[in-house]
Order: sequence, then structure tokens, then C-alpha cells
Amino acid sequence: MSTDRSAEFSIFTRRESEARSYCRGFDTVFTSASGSEMTDASGRSYIDFLAGCSSLNYGHNDPDMKQALVDHIASDGIAHGLDLHTDTKAGFLTAFEKHVLGPRGMDHRVMFTGPTGANAVEAAMKLARKVTGRTNIIAFTNGFHGVTMGALAATGNSYHRGGAGMTLNGVTRMPFDGYMGDGFDTADLLETMLDDRSSGVDAPAAIMLETVQGEGGLNAASPGWVRRVAALARKHGALLIVDDIQAGCGRTGTFFSFEEMDVQPDIVTMAKSVSGFGLPLALMLVKPEYDIFGPAEHNGTFRGNTHAFVTARVAIEKFWADYEFQKSLAVKSVALTTALQQVADMIPGAFLKGRGLMQGVDVGSGELAGEICARAFEKGLVIETSGSEDQVVKVLAPLTTPMETFRKGFEILLEATAEATRTGKIAAE
Ligand SMILES: *Cc1c(COP(=O)(O)O)cnc(C)c1O
Repeated sequence: MSTDRSAEFSIFTRRESEARSYCRGFDTVFTSASGSEMTDASGRSYIDFLAGCSSLNYGHNDPDMKQALVDHIASDGIAHGLDLHTDTKAGFLTAFEKHVLGPRGMDHRVMFTGPTGANAVEAAMKLARKVTGRTNIIAFTNGFHGVTMGALAATGNSYHRGGAGMTLNGVTRMPFDGYMGDGFDTADLLETMLDDRSSGVDAPAAIMLETVQGEGGLNAASPGWVRRVAALARKHGALLIVDDIQAGCGRTGTFFSFEEMDVQPDIVTMAKSVSGFGLPLALMLVKPEYDIFGPAEHNGTFRGNTHAFVTARVAIEKFWADYEFQKSLAVKSVALTTALQQVADMIPGAFLKGRGLMQGVDVGSGELAGEICARAFEKGLVIETSGSEDQVVKVLAPLTTPMETFRKGFEILLEATAEATRTGKIAAE
């Protein structure tokens, strides 16, 4: 390590909080990025299979979004406008209505929340409680919904929950689809518990779920299970909240992750890739009859992000105005499954997780998954783990990744896996 480089690094260890996280696994200083590649201070380039945890579904610095944003800034367009009417907000809402909500038969209202996913989840939970006059919200094992108090109460992970420093209330946990293994339909349990007035489960304001659990290990719910949960919510007077913050915006192969499941959630939370450009923007979609917050009842200084509206509009118009992009996702999903199967084949007991362009391999231990990711990074691939034990090597490549880059990334992943399993064996002997 040159002195320059260590000087560059020391600022982080000296000043940045111990709470920093992703940066610990990718020990370099990134300076620029384009498409599916990032470049560090030494000029080395990396293929990005993390994509800001699915905040960069259209890659880094999409040229059309960038140009629109540069033009907006250069012409003194509004940078911050509270929730005032702006041309950029109108532009986003119009494109979203025309190309996303309209064609899908969704009459939901769009409520902009504070700019983080957690804030959209807070708003969703509060609204469901206000609508129903009930407190309890049913959330699922391995669910991740953010780390503010309300969202954290719905999150399963004990490490994150431990950071609360107080009791986390108002949520009943139920087993997600597949949690009890094959041959046990956890929707049966949910039904029995909800139907039994002596089960001890209070009538819920909402049932909240991710159709594919992004942080929780890429557990993909079956359409049949989601439909049953949706029907149970309706039967028991609870709202169905789909947290599409990570699985939405095309990640599972369709704009919304629930599109081909024949359910219409009462509330949908969105963040991460909504802006298309990696800018903070979060919102929730609410069926009109439940759109009952008073003006500023759930407020926030940064509701809506004017710069993000500019890029979000371009993202919708560029990628979702017709079906070409969606078709390309189907092809890539198959390629991803094939490639990941090769990885899984190298590890005894490993198996595939997830759906669409949100897939990974459960390699059986967090140690091995971490070792694979570390070795991949040495070879120029940014990739992360997920799951209760961080045991899933998870691919979240930008949806726009060219096939050739995709293949290169997988060559690295295969080499990294070969190395990591070999060392594992030597250590075991
Ligand atoms: C990332 C994420 C959140 C939280 O979003 P933040 O912007 O990090 O607050 C909530 N739900 C899901 C499913 C997520 O993946």
C-alpha cells in the first residue's frame, strides 16, 4: 500500500463512525462509475453486482437521466421545493400514471414520504393503523423493512432489532412462505391463528410482506401463498401492504414484484430504484379509499426530491413505456439462474434462492459466502451476501447490465467460488 493510499484510507478509520458497513467489505476508494462498472482511485475497475442494494437498477449514471438532471440544474430548475407543485413533480407523476399505474389498472394515489424506504414503511404502518383503528401489524420471519422504530418492529433480524434499545411493539410475527420447510403451508397457520379468537393474535391493521425477501435471504413467496395472505387480510379487515422497496422497479422481472400474482395491495412502499439514478426518493401507493392522512399529518421536509423527480421520470419513460425492457429481463433472469446453478454445483448442499434478477446461492454458511465475496472483490467484482447468517451470495446486478459484462462477472464469481471452496477444504483437513 502506498503512503498516498493509506493517507486516503485513514480519514475513514479516524473519523467515520463504526456504524459504517458495506465499505468494510470493499476496501478501496471509489471515484467514478458508469453503467455496471465502478472505478477506484487507482484506476482499477470493478463490475458491480450490488448496484446500491438495488438502488441502481438502471446502472450508474444513465446518460439520459444524467443529461436531464444536468439540464435541469443548468437552467436553475428548482432544487428543493418542500412539497410545492413543481414541473418536475408533475412530470414524474404523469409518466408514472401513464406508463406504470394506468396500464396495470391501479388507481392508487401516490404519497411522497421522507426520502428513505424506512420512512415510506413508517407511513404505511401508521396509515393502516389510522384506517382500521387497530394497532397490530402482522409481519414475517426474515422480513426487512428498515431500521426506524416502527419499521424495525416489523423487521426480523435480531442484530438490527438489538439496536433499538427499547421494546419494539405493535407487530405479530408469522412464518413466511417456506419457513417451516416443504409440506407445511404457513398460510394455514396464519389462517388458523386469525380465525381463532383465542389465538392471542390481535385483529391486525395490516399484513405486511416482501414477495421476495431482499435482506432476509432471497426467500421468494409463491404466488399462491401471497394470494392466500391477501385473501386473509381482506377477510379480517386488514390492509395488505407489499413492501416493494427492493423487489420493485423491475428487479423481479416486472415493474412491481406482485404483478403476476393477481393481487392488488392496498398499500405499496417504494424507494431504492424509484429515482432511477440512485437519488433518495420514497413513496407509497395507497388505494384512494384509504388515502386519509390529513395535510402534513405524516410530513417531512424532504418529501419528494426534485432532482430525483427529473431522473425518475426519464427512468419510467425510457424503460417502462413499452415491453422491450421487460422482455430483456426475462432473458437475463434465465441466464442468471443458469450461471448461479454453476456456482451452486461447486458447493455440496448449495441451492438457488430468489426470483427474476434477484437471485443468489445459499452456500450453507456465512463464512463461506463472505469468503467468496471477498475473493470476488480481489478479482474485480462487487457482490454482497444476504440472509439470517449472511449465507446467501446475492446477485443484484443492474438490470441494464450488458450480457458480456454479466458473463465476465460470473467468470469472476466462479473463480472466486473455486478458490474459496478449495481453501475451505484445506482448512478442514
Ligand atoms: C432497503 C429496504 C428498506 C429500507 O429502506 P431504507 O431506504 O434503507 O430506509 C425497507 N424495505 C425493504 C424491503 C428494503 O429492501
